Amino acid sequence: MTTKLTLSSLKILVQGIASSHGESIGCDACWDQIDRFAEIELAGKDASQVLPLVEDHLERCGMCREEYEALLEALKNLPE
Ligand SMILES: [Zn+2]
Repeated sequence: MTTKLTLSSLKILVQGIASSHGESIGCDACWDQIDRFAEIELAGKDASQVLPLVEDHLERCGMCREEYEALLEALKNLPE
């Protein structure tokens, strides 16, 4: 039996691994939760415990990290 690895079968394989582990999210999913993440952080709680996937994405994605830090600053300076 010969194993033919096509690009599409590789993609399915990679997607399967990613979803079965459920350990990483993309920028879109990160953005859906980033305001909550910032609010938890500002409330003095450990946001990485509540939203570990967002924390994980911020660790790996410099773009989202920068936006998150900007958001955090904006929230801190928000008038009551
Ligand atoms: Zn990102």
